[in-house]
Amino acid sequence: RRLETNVDVSSVLQTISSSKVAIIHSGESTQLKNCTEVIRTCGYEENVEVVQIRVNESGKERLQFITLRNQWPLIFIKGDAIGGVDELKKLSDAKILGEWLRNHQYDLVVIGGGSGGLAAAKMAASFGKKVVVLDYVKPSPQGSTWGLGGTCVNVGCIPKKLMHQASLLGHCIKDAKMFGWKIPEGEITHNWINLKNGVQDHIAALNWGYRVQLREKEVTYMNSYGTFTGPFEISATNKKGVVEKLTADRFLIATGLRPRYPENVPGAKEFCITSDDLFSLPYAPEKTLCIGASYVSLECAGFLKGLGFDVTVMVRSILLRGFDQDIAERIRSHMKELGVKFESAVPTRIEEIEPKTKTKAGRLRVFWEKALDDGSKTETSEEFNTVVMAIGRDAMTKDIGLNVVRVETSNNGKIKSRREQSLTCPYVYAIGDVLENVPELTPVAIQAGKVLMKRLYGGIDELTEYDEVPTTVFTPLEYGCCGLSEENAYERYGKEDIIIYHAVFFPLEYTVAERMDKDHCYCKLICLKSEKERVLGFHILAPSAGEIAQGFGIALKLGATKSDFDRLIGIHPTVAESFTTLYLVKKEGEAELKATGC
Ligand code: FAD
Repeated sequence: RRLETNVDVSSVLQTISSSKVAIIHSGESTQLKNCTEVIRTCGYEENVEVVQIRVNESGKERLQFITLRNQWPLIFIKGDAIGGVDELKKLSDAKILGEWLRNHQYDLVVIGGGSGGLAAAKMAASFGKKVVVLDYVKPSPQGSTWGLGGTCVNVGCIPKKLMHQASLLGHCIKDAKMFGWKIPEGEITHNWINLKNGVQDHIAALNWGYRVQLREKEVTYMNSYGTFTGPFEISATNKKGVVEKLTADRFLIATGLRPRYPENVPGAKEFCITSDDLFSLPYAPEKTLCIGASYVSLECAGFLKGLGFDVTVMVRSILLRGFDQDIAERIRSHMKELGVKFESAVPTRIEEIEPKTKTKAGRLRVFWEKALDDGSKTETSEEFNTVVMAIGRDAMTKDIGLNVVRVETSNNGKIKSRREQSLTCPYVYAIGDVLENVPELTPVAIQAGKVLMKRLYGGIDELTEYDEVPTTVFTPLEYGCCGLSEENAYERYGKEDIIIYHAVFFPLEYTVAERMDKDHCYCKLICLKSEKERVLGFHILAPSAGEIAQGFGIALKLGATKSDFDRLIGIHPTVAESFTTLYLVKKEGEAELKATGC
């Protein structure tokens, strides 16, 4: 079947998505003959309709951009770009092509029912595709497991934000007194079990909701662990060890990450918990050590301190690697003022003094090396009730049979891709945290899942934009940002081309409450001089920074300049209005700014 088309890439993509074989070309007849010959001899027994679509130069450019492939003619098998004639031959020689063209049980197997996997599965089903989602949680070393929905819902964003809110409310009670509320005299205490139960009840409702949504969309859900056992085959193993084999045309890996334990730290795996365990901890954590400088470590330390626990953060080097370091240090100093202790060290071993019970935290002794002024080191130790290991998270790709489908991963186990398509296996895709070089955030995983499925099954010409993604660290004083950090801006554009406007301020709400954190709120815009001061980075350290960063994020996507921020009239009295009146230029070595109020 031959089709001619002008520039409408969407209609080309739609034809591709519904064709077993599609060859996109500009009239190269020998190449087309070679393609059809390879398909005829690939071992597939039935006749295959080969759709040939001739496109003009701009159509060619766009398709090569979408697929990130420069071979031409460009060949698609069941909607997946594979490259040119050479790649087709390789697939045929490896006996993959014939097998691919056969019918399989499912259009799509999604491995991992977290933020990304669920969004993708539902979107694929909305195009009438037959989809199965496998989601299985391997128990943490401490034995924690959870329901459908992945990290965000069960052990990530949701419980974390609720506990952050619980901690903020503690501050509000103190503020309330200053605003005239009669709060009973004496110490106001917090009940961890009540908080934990409330949070877990909400999570259970969400787990149930996800199951209902899958049923409504006619997506098959299996609470099973998926492993590739053949080129188009997955073995799904359930809790009882029963294995079911599933075949599909296409696979989506959305298996996410799990917290890492350090190697060579005796006692770490036996006695430390991670964020996988903290939010369902059946006893109050009491005196806690958070190990690691990740946002997870700081967020957990922040809310635990706010709930009234004694908290120490142990870090090897800098805080919040990858984030703006000026802000990271401001977060450290704010948390210190709240009473969180910081220890620059790495643990060497952890010993149990008294085991935990179902209702009470145990006692652990943590040992570490401390550098002395003369450069020598001495071993020191301290007792804690709970140790939270938050030194990073690893990709869940080690034992899912990627070698069977020859899906290549980088050193950290993340999947290498061309857009979201595996670099080495054209019918396997990956989204979310498990994909290399993308922000590890829930909305990113969701967007990638939806956009990919719309492109593959609906022929919609869209790509996920992984840059200028607004995000927030929910430390006691929230840090919202979008775009580049100072460090990245200097690296990308050179120091001479960067100008930074900034201000320290305090929210009106702090005044009557006489909050100690008056001088900690901070905002800055990092701008590119040579492009009319286009805003490259937006940063704010303030209450509700998440809400503020989300709103201003659109300005960065639209290429806003400093003068656009100046033209915007503020909403008074708010924290966010600080961005409409920024005039101070940040200078190297200048003294710390003094706060201005609204
Ligand atoms: P996940 O949600 O991790 O889902 C993967 C699923 O696949 C899991 O259920 C896993 O058990 C399952 N699985 C793995 N292997 C297999 C297999 N072989 N077979 C079957 N199932 C398998 N992001 C934000 O945007 N905002 C936040 O505030 C935020 N806070 C966070 C706080 C914490 C403490 C943590 C740990 C993370 C936080 N994140 C936050 C990150 C966010 O949770 C992740 O970016 C998001 O969950 C990634 O989604 P995903 O679909 O890639 O993977």
